[in-house]
Amino acid sequence: MPIIAPSPSRQRDPPETSRTGTLAVTDGEIHFLWWFIQGSIMTPETRAALLRGFGFCERHAWVHLSVEMSFRKQHFLGPVILYRELIEKSVQATKGRRQLAFQSPLRQLKAAGPCFLCTLDIKPAATGATPPARLARGRDSNGLRLFATNLTTLWRPTVCAICSGNTCETRGSPRCRPHLLADLTEREPIDLSWHQDTLNELSVRLARYERSFVAGADKPSEQERAALISAVGWCSGWRPLLALLGRSTWQ
Ligand SMILES: [Zn+2]
Ligand SMILES: [Zn+2]
Repeated sequence: MPIIAPSPSRQRDPPETSRTGTLAVTDGEIHFLWWFIQGSIMTPETRAALLRGFGFCERHAWVHLSVEMSFRKQHFLGPVILYRELIEKSVQATKGRRQLAFQSPLRQLKAAGPCFLCTLDIKPAATGATPPARLARGRDSNGLRLFATNLTTLWRPTVCAICSGNTCETRGSPRCRPHLLADLTEREPIDLSWHQDTLNELSVRLARYERSFVAGADKPSEQERAALISAVGWCSGWRPLLALLGRSTWQ
């Protein structure tokens, strides 16, 4: 039973749990993700499921990053590897195709499986199993808020026009992957130039970010850290993060 249904639709309202300015992370999500970030994200089966699902649904993508931030500060090794792979997959899917026609098949950009977290019935499993201090820490999204706020000027140009509720948006303006796929149901051809340029840049930056985890390597630059935010937004959608930050912060 899904906790929150994936929401790649064109609706302009953020998901229910994001309207309050928090991600409203549940006890079950904290319980599961605390174990998940200890290493299971790196197991072949889990990574294969995450790659098939194109990461997580919109809500769980940001919940995952927030819980990682709560417990690991900015040591985003697992997320950086995951999103570097997903962005590389997207680069390959759009390569050599500057324009897409109505209902063009773009299978490689579609999730071939459900959100990994939505498929788990994690709420009952968490009952009484997690210390209150860990729950309080996992619920706190201030780490993600601060991380994203400090890099706003670097990721803002990549925010999806539909996710941000930009009423002046045009078809050439930025889109997340779910809204790009939604555009393909309309009759106008779609110019992929912005996506190709952005994905190429994110791919390079995330590869550098991943190399920064090697002992003795330089710390990641601000551009490389902002690329993680842009990659999560592109793969899954932006609305939970934008609602968490508040319009005055990111606009
Ligand atoms: Zn989900
Ligand atoms: Zn979007």
